[in-house]
Amino acid sequence: MQYLCMLCQKKHLASPTQIKCDCGGALWLNDSSLGLTKRDIISHDFTLWRYCKAYPINREDVQVSFDETITPMPQLEWDNTPIFAKMDSLMPTGSFKARGAAIVINYLKKQGIDCFAEDSSGNGGSAYAGYCAKGGLKLNVFIPAGTAAGKVVQTKMYGANCIEIEGSRADVANAAIDSIHTHGSYYVGHNWHPLFIEGVKSIAYEIWEQNNYQAPDNIVAPAGNGSLIAGAYLGFKALLQQGEITKMPRLFGIQSAAVNPFVKQFNHDTSPVAPKNTIAEGIRIMRSSRITEIIQFVRETHGQFISVSESQIKDALFKMGQKGFFIEPTSATAFAGISKLISAGVIKPDEKTVGVITGHGLKATDNISSLMNEK
Ligand SMILES: *Cc1c(COP(=O)(O)O)cnc(C)c1O
Ligand SMILES: [Zn+2]
Repeated sequence: MQYLCMLCQKKHLASPTQIKCDCGGALWLNDSSLGLTKRDIISHDFTLWRYCKAYPINREDVQVSFDETITPMPQLEWDNTPIFAKMDSLMPTGSFKARGAAIVINYLKKQGIDCFAEDSSGNGGSAYAGYCAKGGLKLNVFIPAGTAAGKVVQTKMYGANCIEIEGSRADVANAAIDSIHTHGSYYVGHNWHPLFIEGVKSIAYEIWEQNNYQAPDNIVAPAGNGSLIAGAYLGFKALLQQGEITKMPRLFGIQSAAVNPFVKQFNHDTSPVAPKNTIAEGIRIMRSSRITEIIQFVRETHGQFISVSESQIKDALFKMGQKGFFIEPTSATAFAGISKLISAGVIKPDEKTVGVITGHGLKATDNISSLMNEK
């Protein structure tokens, strides 16, 4: 197996400790043989493993699984426009991050590794913790000192060892990477591990199947590190290269105006990103590890990165609730973005548009409760 740095084009032989390129760039799996056609789907397998041909792991080597379901994609009416909501809130750990954790953990377990490290106080940490619990594996989760309980409760319930680190967010990540020496744990951080996005690709294959083996016109998702956007891009791109679809969906990454590095770089705005607060805590990331590559992906699909305001996110959160969808405030960013794109005429009523519900509302009841009291 080989990894590629898209920034300097250097290729690396994959190893469990190879996390970044020497140039500081992120690594991507470099394997064009993984394309999936309709015939390759294991049709009696109703889990994300039905697309095993697309992953760098064989079906018989999958040891850690919740029989992850294909998540529902019901239609709803949004600003007088029919759209589809991809309910990744129903993944086994309550967010789309389970897709990435499933591949990373199974691949490394097959290599004989049983102790992992992650840096996250949110859905990435809880997804890895859930998979490690299921597989009887050890996980150390490095979190910034003073992180509010929130999703850490879920991570601890799964039995992960949470280690608080004083200092910046980069210090926390470095402690997790160094833990190979300090704790014997292999770093699988979801923002860096090259195979995480390989698992996120499954969302593209599901949407393709659920849309009668065609690409929708538009996919709209919140963007933090951009892994979901990147996974959707790689999945659909592979389908296009196999001749299974005739065009790429346009990909739209939505950020809070409070923290919007993708939007800035997409628009060639070089002003700094300030660490402001946002109710979309899951995408409060100052700079993605894959920003340059993912902006290129989005441009290629003729999509966009756009910002929405805190009040637009809040309105979308409550509007989704009234329609029967209890979602994380972070996920509401996507639907606030869809409103903005509809009113700008970018998304049209006769197009097929999919908004991704990236996380479950039950993850953030405390935060949502405070938002209700402000109303
Ligand atoms: C991680 C996360 C996101 C952002 O995903 P990226 O792949 O980092 O862009 C969006 N919503 C929720 C609920 C998340 O946990
Ligand atoms: Zn490089």
